[in-house]
Amino acid sequence: MRNIPTATVSRLVTYLRILTDLEDAEIKRTSSDVLAEEAQVSAFQVRKDLAYFGRFGTRGAGYSVPTLRRELRRILGLTRPWNVAIMGMGRLGQALADYPNFDQYDFLLKASFDSDPAKVGRHIGGVDVYAVDEIDERVAASSIDIAFLTVPAQAAQEAAERLVGAGIRGILNFAPTVINVPSGVFVEPVDFVAGLKRLAYYLQGAPAKERVGS
Ligand code: NAD
Repeated sequence: MRNIPTATVSRLVTYLRILTDLEDAEIKRTSSDVLAEEAQVSAFQVRKDLAYFGRFGTRGAGYSVPTLRRELRRILGLTRPWNVAIMGMGRLGQALADYPNFDQYDFLLKASFDSDPAKVGRHIGGVDVYAVDEIDERVAASSIDIAFLTVPAQAAQEAAERLVGAGIRGILNFAPTVINVPSGVFVEPVDFVAGLKRLAYYLQGAPAKERVGS
């Protein structure tokens, strides 16, 4: 696979969401200007991102919405379902299991794992909870590709190694720590507390709001 900048991949995901909205609105054609405005980037950026993968539009006539949407799904690897597991069925793992819309995006929740014997054997949010020792067997049986890592930070590296050992190649890491994985395995960090800290940085110059109850 060619080395495509991560930021480009992120923007392709945004363009795909915009194209899906356009298709839902039965709009047949679009342009780099429209995609740029919706994605809050420049039209030049849109054309540059798409140019990594070929020519999709016609000068003056823009892009066919269904064709470009189909091409972006193909480029992003979204033409097949991906089987997903959750590692750590605490508060966050259970909330993710309860989210009803993964399958709408072809991400299919197949299994979950926890080290707490009190959780093993339960069925939470539509998914069975297995012991960590069963991971190799369950990942193989359900052809699981991707895992949500929702264990405490201090357990994250070891838990990630169990996932990788079982054959998982994509980890969405919710634990607030860096995990090291071998090449060929991809980690996407998700950290909303880091987002809150960035907001605090931007807001710190603004006048403080009166705190209710203080
Ligand atoms: P929690 O304590 O409620 O749940 C953690 C679960 O992981 C428990 O069920 C525990 O038994 C299990 N566990 C512990 N070690 C394990 C191991 N080695 N293998 C398998 N399972 C194991 O915690 P939580 O509130 O659900 O948070 C989970 C993680 O997500 C934490 O790292 C937390 O900091 C993080 N978090 C991230 C975000 C975010 O936005 N990224 C938000 C909230 C929490």
